[in-house]
Amino acid sequence: MTTLRLILGDQLNPCHSWFAEVRPDVVYVLMEIHPEMAYVLHHAQKILTIVAGMRDFARQLKADGHRVRYIALDDPSNRQSLTGNLDALVAHYGATGVEYQEPDEWRLDEQLQTWSQEAPQRLGIPGHSVSSEHFYTERGEAAALFAGRKQWLMEHFYRQMRVKHHVLLDADNPKRPTGGQWNFDPDNRKAWKGSPPLPADWRTPHDHRALWQSLCDAGVRSFGAPQADQLAWPLNRQEALQHLDAFIAHALPHFGDYQDALTQHSWRVFHSLLSFALNTKMLNPREVVGRAERAWADRHAPLAAVEGFIRQILGWREYVRGVYWAHMLGYVDHNALGHTLPLPVWFWTGDTRMACVAHAIGQSLAHAYAHHIQRLMVIGNFALLAGLSPQAVHQWYLGVYIDAFEWVELPNTLGMSQFADGGLLATKPYVSSASYIQRMGDHCKGCHYQHKERLGPQACPFNALYWDFHLRHADRLQGNPRLAMVYKNLGKMDAETVQTIQAQASSLRERLDTL
Ligand code: FAD
Ligand code: SF4
Repeated sequence: MTTLRLILGDQLNPCHSWFAEVRPDVVYVLMEIHPEMAYVLHHAQKILTIVAGMRDFARQLKADGHRVRYIALDDPSNRQSLTGNLDALVAHYGATGVEYQEPDEWRLDEQLQTWSQEAPQRLGIPGHSVSSEHFYTERGEAAALFAGRKQWLMEHFYRQMRVKHHVLLDADNPKRPTGGQWNFDPDNRKAWKGSPPLPADWRTPHDHRALWQSLCDAGVRSFGAPQADQLAWPLNRQEALQHLDAFIAHALPHFGDYQDALTQHSWRVFHSLLSFALNTKMLNPREVVGRAERAWADRHAPLAAVEGFIRQILGWREYVRGVYWAHMLGYVDHNALGHTLPLPVWFWTGDTRMACVAHAIGQSLAHAYAHHIQRLMVIGNFALLAGLSPQAVHQWYLGVYIDAFEWVELPNTLGMSQFADGGLLATKPYVSSASYIQRMGDHCKGCHYQHKERLGPQACPFNALYWDFHLRHADRLQGNPRLAMVYKNLGKMDAETVQTIQAQASSLRERLDTL
């Protein structure tokens, strides 16, 4: 009697109850397959880190006494299909059942559900899923909370989560927030001007050149820098816990103040770099939230920083997952603003004269990472203003970032950043002219373009594109009360100014590759 238990590449959680006891009748299965490395073009570091993490996880399971079957990409028995390999393994082991942890992505969920439904008839064995024991919420919880509402306000969801999970609540009144305020966002908008000192990179580099070579030899295609000789993302829970410690000690106290800061001098500012460890389940969101809460109780970090950080995990992360499961499959096709332009070439090289964009894309290609404001207010902002296809933007984001898994990337990109869902997630499009980027950072100082100029060859492209975006989409957007000021300002412009801005924007949109 043998049961196969499948472990996916983003399920590297040694604390799952599956592993509480060593069972000789269970074989854990991990597999590297081409389709999972090629459903979009991925960043080299992302492929390499996930594969190295899976191999490390398998090694650890074996060391703990578990039975493991690991199918490497170049294993001759590899059928390069999740379900094809499962069929073969069921036959090989004479398995009497297959179990898998709930996948987070629709694509895999669909494949495994179909396989399990057919398994009793086709193979004479049952297949079923168990919880991944990771998230605070069930897949359908956000949908139930927002039932019947046109707009899904994250803040509403977040407050419910705070109360339900007893996070940052007043000791005397557990329905009231600690410090009397649910949200400290207005305090968390400082630009970083050279101090406090930025934290050093606390990650430990690993040499994985041989593994990378073997993946390339097996035909893996990718883009971005592999950094195989100094791969620095955590490969297991132990390393992830060390990163969590370092973040709490060195960066959390300043996380809030500089959460939205942009600077030429850093690629991570005071951000945690924990998304990969969280999304691959090396870390549990509860322990990360708990550590942050304790840092406030110990007076190590201010409440605004701790609340701001916790909101990202207990709020945004769980919320976007709820959006994903409520709106897949059709969500990926939304294009409410009808944007169709292809990505400019510099999305693949970082080679643009726009200093803010060059920095954000350059570091994305170098590190497979950009922080939230770079993703939203630099790259995403430009893509939306220029009218790039939201599907092309989605595919790029899904490929480039170390933490990009569809359940979290898609609502953030298509919904929050590109407004392609017509405003389910965002009450207005997240766009700005150069003034926001200038206020929040230091990129404009050294830029080829002039942040104050709207017209002319050296005018910052964000400016004309910003006004043109609101003119192009006036039918849909001008009734939005949050945009009243924008349309009031547009109303004050004379016809000639409007025409010149539109001409400048059209010219920019025709030559995006050359900006
Ligand atoms: P920190 O700034 O230190 O934040 C702490 C944690 O909060 C993160 O590790 C993450 O788990 C969580 N978090 C913060 N913001 C969000 C959010 N909006 N949604 C979900 N979780 C959040 N996050 C991903 O994990 N994967 C993605 O593919 C992804 N794609 C994005 C695409 C766009 C266009 C945008 C605007 C945001 C995207 N995010 C994504 C959210 C966020 O930008 C990243 O989680 C964050 O930058 C990761 O870096 P960090 O760990 O240093 O985060
Ligand atoms: Fe970016 Fe414009 Fe500033 Fe240049 S001037 S850094 S393009 S906002």
